[in-house]
Amino acid sequence: MLKAWFAIALWKRVIAALLLGIIIGLIWGPGAESIKIVGDVFIAFIKMLVVPLIFFSLVSGVAAIGDLRKLGAVGGRALLLFIVTGQIAVWLGLLLGTLVKPGLLVDQGAIVLGATPEPNETTWREMVLSVVPSSPVQVMADVAVLPLIVFALLIGVGILMAGKEGDPLGRIFDAGSVVMQKVTMVVMELTPFGVFALMAWVAGTLGFSALQALGALVALNYLGCLLIITVMYSAMIKFIAKLPVMDFFRGIVDAIAVSYSTASSNATLPVTLRCAQRNLGVSKSVSSFVIALGATINMNGTAMYLGLATLFGAQIFGVDLSWVDYGMIALTATLGAIGAAGIPGAGLIMMALVFGTVGVPLETIAFVAGVDRIMDMMRTTTNVSGDAAVAVTVASMTGELDRAEMVSADDV
Ligand code: ASP
Repeated sequence: MLKAWFAIALWKRVIAALLLGIIIGLIWGPGAESIKIVGDVFIAFIKMLVVPLIFFSLVSGVAAIGDLRKLGAVGGRALLLFIVTGQIAVWLGLLLGTLVKPGLLVDQGAIVLGATPEPNETTWREMVLSVVPSSPVQVMADVAVLPLIVFALLIGVGILMAGKEGDPLGRIFDAGSVVMQKVTMVVMELTPFGVFALMAWVAGTLGFSALQALGALVALNYLGCLLIITVMYSAMIKFIAKLPVMDFFRGIVDAIAVSYSTASSNATLPVTLRCAQRNLGVSKSVSSFVIALGATINMNGTAMYLGLATLFGAQIFGVDLSWVDYGMIALTATLGAIGAAGIPGAGLIMMALVFGTVGVPLETIAFVAGVDRIMDMMRTTTNVSGDAAVAVTVASMTGELDRAEMVSADDV
């Protein structure tokens, strides 16, 4: 019985739980609230993951750069492109969320979820100070993600500066990051139960309006990702790398297929590397450095989605957001995308981080968890195509691109 359960792919179990939850909820009505506790347990486990996951994966990501000088020519350019594209992505998510307002499709009169959120009145001075990890232990205890990320980045830089003496600590963080990915996989096994309970509760208390809202969110997620790929990446390839756009996309077809079906940048990594080297002509050193780093920190699909989902939650629960809040969302969503591991569902976990900073109730995570996989597949394809696009662009800028290879992508 247990064997049969695990033999079914997790995402299929999640979709089944989603459908079953909706049906039961619609039949049961508001009484479905009684099983919400199962979903609350699921969310509590997700919260548990946030601090160790970000901490280990970020420190090991920075340490993986190897040495501080490498941050120069290749690293500097790659990071710049990661940051600029990440910013465009997150603001695109905020724009789509603001224009379409998918959260307002939920019947506002029926909302009895969670406590009324506190209005958030952070001034820019408090915002600047709140980023400094004055007490790292406190920062972890409070799950204050921004200062946590700053702390993790500094530890990573420290490991690089310490050279050989820092290596053992770097390896501990590598191991910690692998272990945390495994723990995440275990927690993800709870998803079908959490999703079932939460969807029953959502459908029971909010009815059809909730389902419409989720449909709109999924559609916007796809629209945002497609815009990033077809407009932003194409522009980068055409105008910065100065290469034929179609040849680029033809060269990464395998990576697109694998990323869409696995919803994992990490799992796709070997395929992305092969595409970049064999089909696009990116040198070994540039491709392994940029794509390995990118699989961990360059997630434009995730950044866009985090911005969009935060507005979605704010709209459902009537949280007023100021411009400072928008700035905070952009910052934490970018950092959350950097901190997210390249595994299925990582973006879902990072939502806890962004929501916490602007006071959007974590119940939103439960609300969207059931449809996350469908969105994750598209986010991951966006993330992986972005890694390849940045690798090609950096290679072209630094003379590490074999153009003959790229143009002959036809024969691959
Ligand atoms: N699954 C995505 C990836 O591996 C991350 C996410 O959940 O957004 O790139």
